[in-house]
Amino acid sequence: MSFVKKKKYGQNFLTSDKFPLRIAHESGIEKEDGALEIGAGFGILTEKLANVAKKVVSVEIDEELLPILNEKFADRNNIQFINSDILKVDVKELVNEHFPNMEVCVCANLPYYITTPILEALFESGVKFKSITVMVQKEVADRICSKAGSAEYSSFTAYVSYFGVAKKLFTVPPSAFSPPPKVTSAVIQIIPHKEPPVNPKDVKLFFKVLNGAFENRRKTLVNSLFTAFSGKYSKEILTEAVETATGNKDIRGEALDIQGYSRIADILYEK
Ligand code: SAH
Repeated sequence: MSFVKKKKYGQNFLTSDKFPLRIAHESGIEKEDGALEIGAGFGILTEKLANVAKKVVSVEIDEELLPILNEKFADRNNIQFINSDILKVDVKELVNEHFPNMEVCVCANLPYYITTPILEALFESGVKFKSITVMVQKEVADRICSKAGSAEYSSFTAYVSYFGVAKKLFTVPPSAFSPPPKVTSAVIQIIPHKEPPVNPKDVKLFFKVLNGAFENRRKTLVNSLFTAFSGKYSKEILTEAVETATGNKDIRGEALDIQGYSRIADILYEK
């Protein structure tokens, strides 16, 4: 085959059925469900998804792959490839158009260079996915699945936990791909919450508190927030808010979970 894999698109293709089978199996896809894949590559995962789902839609940015995929799967009537950049797709519109009245699971061996924006786009689409099962770099998996207060815990961990419960399913060595990536990979699963775990009075303010808490890991939460809000709230107000919400005015930002950030945001909302 004359196809040359493109580094710029994060093309590391799985080479055996073992991991795609496992991803499809552990995704929780049932036979009436839809599967949304991001990045088909040569379709090794697409095929396994089509064996368990009612319908698969796979968004692939590389136009050179489309004729290969369409030919390979010409006899499969439940697979559709879309030649687009997932970050430019209206995910909600796509889901409504292709998966009417279906529960939809996202399944993908993600292009690692855009892991974070893809997950953000999925969460912020407002689509209630049944599950999101994706391969990412192991470091990213550990970060997303970490607990508040641990070394890996970050604002992105807290952000993800607002949308769903994340867990690591299994790791995948570089040798499982062609070409092998420089890093170890891991498959994670995020089960979106049915109801939000917190209901801050002002969601934007809540996200600002959450991100601000991590701006400087060596600072206390009060000082991080003082910097993040550029003096909008005095240190006295912030100290009072942090102490009321956590019982510890010297606490560091990374020690809190989203309930903590939400309590602080609600106190600041009243100021
Ligand atoms: N699922 C395949 C390929 C994984 S590699 C396998 O496991 O073998 C990641 C794939 O994502 C590549 O095919 C790459 O071309 C595609 N991709 C990269 N950026 C993309 C984007 N912005 N939108 C859609 N697909 C993208």
